[in-house]
Amino acid sequence: MDVTKIFGLNVFNDETMRKRLPRDTYKLFKQAIDNNASLPSRVADVVANAMKDWAIEKGATHYTHWFQPLTGSTAEKHDSFIAPTEQGGVVMEFSGKQLIKGEPDASSLPSGGLRATFEARGYTAWDYTSPAFLKEDGAGDVTLCIPTAFCSYTGKALDKKTSVLRSMKAVSKEALRFLHAMEYKAVKKVTSTVGAEQEYFLIDKEMYKKRLDLIVAGRTLFGAPAPKGQEMKDHYFGQIKDRIAHYMKDLDKELWKLGIAATTKHNEVAPSQFEMAPIYTTTNIAADQNQLVMEIMDKVAIRHGLVCLLHEKPYTGINGSGKHLNWSLSTDNGMNLLEPGKTPHENAQFLLMICALIMAVDRHSDILRRSAANSGNDHRLGANEAPPAIISIFMGDELTRILESIAQGKKTTSKSFKSIQVGVDTLPPLPKDNSDRNRTSPFAFTGNKFEFRMVPSSNSISGPSTVLNTIVAEALDEIATRLEKATDIHKETAAIIRDIMKEHGRIIFNGNNYSDDWVKEAEKRGLPHFRSTIEAFKTFNEKKSIDLFEKYKVLSKEEMHARFDIYVDLYSMQINVEAKASLDMVKSLYIPAVIQFTKELAETINQLEEVKGSSVVQKGLLAKVSTLLESAYGKTEKLEVELEKAFNIPHDVSHGFKRATEFRDKVFVAMNDLREDIDKLEAIIPRKLWPVPTYADILFSL
Ligand code: ADP
Ligand code: MG
Repeated sequence: MDVTKIFGLNVFNDETMRKRLPRDTYKLFKQAIDNNASLPSRVADVVANAMKDWAIEKGATHYTHWFQPLTGSTAEKHDSFIAPTEQGGVVMEFSGKQLIKGEPDASSLPSGGLRATFEARGYTAWDYTSPAFLKEDGAGDVTLCIPTAFCSYTGKALDKKTSVLRSMKAVSKEALRFLHAMEYKAVKKVTSTVGAEQEYFLIDKEMYKKRLDLIVAGRTLFGAPAPKGQEMKDHYFGQIKDRIAHYMKDLDKELWKLGIAATTKHNEVAPSQFEMAPIYTTTNIAADQNQLVMEIMDKVAIRHGLVCLLHEKPYTGINGSGKHLNWSLSTDNGMNLLEPGKTPHENAQFLLMICALIMAVDRHSDILRRSAANSGNDHRLGANEAPPAIISIFMGDELTRILESIAQGKKTTSKSFKSIQVGVDTLPPLPKDNSDRNRTSPFAFTGNKFEFRMVPSSNSISGPSTVLNTIVAEALDEIATRLEKATDIHKETAAIIRDIMKEHGRIIFNGNNYSDDWVKEAEKRGLPHFRSTIEAFKTFNEKKSIDLFEKYKVLSKEEMHARFDIYVDLYSMQINVEAKASLDMVKSLYIPAVIQFTKELAETINQLEEVKGSSVVQKGLLAKVSTLLESAYGKTEKLEVELEKAFNIPHDVSHGFKRATEFRDKVFVAMNDLREDIDKLEAIIPRKLWPVPTYADILFSL
């Protein structure tokens, strides 16, 4: 396989555009991308035509405005290129107008009241900063996919892309001010970059089909622990088995065709768990690509008789999955703002950037936490595997000491370096965080980027990316303002570092984030601790958060409220589905299996009593199973009652939070209660009678 030939084959990328567009159109188009400017319609017409010809040559018959509604998945409605001719035939047509704007209606997608149905339709608008691509479906149809934003008629964002684009604009603007104030006058543009590492599980398709819980909820709602879990750590970075190797090879190929630079693949900690990491790119492209990664992981799995599970916690008792969002800012002339420099001047810029992150994350750790909240992540965060639910920054000892020494303005006792005068001294070389050193931190500086490790594996990375960009925009705005007013940049730099360390230094924590001591320590430091998703969602409605997003024109108050309503409702519906699937499985699978076993036992007891006059073991077993069965039956009824109560809370905006709270505190709890009995029964009932594949079957069969 010649990767260079495959890579980007199905993307209308720069190379293809250069070949296919007239030179002046290409130039105008590139200019529009670079300057975030709007595109003249005559240019759009030419681009549309070239795009269509390219797509048709590759077998496309349809195009779609591909967008990302607030459900978290992607949406597409296919239209064919055909237009009737007067002679009764058809021609293939695609205009600039069709490229730029679409009206998919799509009124059933959640809008959180941003778009009353009587209002005009929602529309999609081409995001020409993310390249169009081709998708092939199972029927062999090829569709030209045009990345678009999805808005209401009044321009309210109904999707996940719009806010990413707005936040990129905001952080770019403030970072540019900051750099110009630091005398980096040649920089014209700053772009936020993201590399999203994606964890996932694979399961044999035949086993998957037997588990309603996996099919409808994406996670097992029952299952006793397997005799072996991940305690031997033998899966992590272990040898990749042939079946998986074939899957990964196929996955790489499909991703490469779409111009997604998949580079790393390996076994993860849990059995049947894996990871894929692409090379980082511009944030909105990274977000689009990650959506495609998830979709293609799924699709390729089916081809290999597998199913890909992207849920945060498919199995209890072993690690779940997340995404690591690697983030930085880079300039048009090749600077990475988080790269420690070699000259004093570069180091001043670097240290201020680090301080911007310290300030941003400390001030808005609540919002950052919210951006990583979903019902699946509630099983992970703080549960001794993923990072805890409390946000702190890992900076490494060396860098922490440097910052502290500057903040104190005096020589430190550290042997490794003397005190640093910003703008005068160079930094001692910083050791790169080798990943083993601190995997427990939710937000870590890793040498030349920050790594946000809380992101849920199944979520779009748009939310966390938007938040990071926005909170950093605010910090850089304030830093830039101070620098712009300063008469002595060096002195002011030191003063800024000192002030930020004093006010926000509490967010730095280099120790073990999994320890109980840290929870207490964090509380002492006054760091927020949101244990559940819906608690974190509340910040959507808080003034501090609304003011921030409005100030940087990323989301309006109405858009924030709408997100709260939609996400809270989504949470309720997820637990609702889980509860219904639990009830279904218990009533139609588990209880009948247990009854069958008790029947067999009772018959055996009768026979034994006749022949032998005793059946101690069998009677004991029957008593034990019967007790558990009765208990499980009672808990099933309880779950039914709780579910009905929660479900019947009015399904409207003013009751959304109450409803979600009921689902969390009553339904979810009743569900776990029921699971306890069923899992105990699983350990007793003969394997041949157990109606679904067990954890051991599933996790060690690949
Ligand atoms: P590790 O394996 O220690 O987590 P890597 O160096 O392999 O770290 O990088 C992990 C991810 O971070 C990759 O997707 C990589 O492309 C991305 N990355 C590297 N540099 C940057 C950057 N400047 N901005 C955003 N992401 C980056
Ligand atoms: Mg990582």
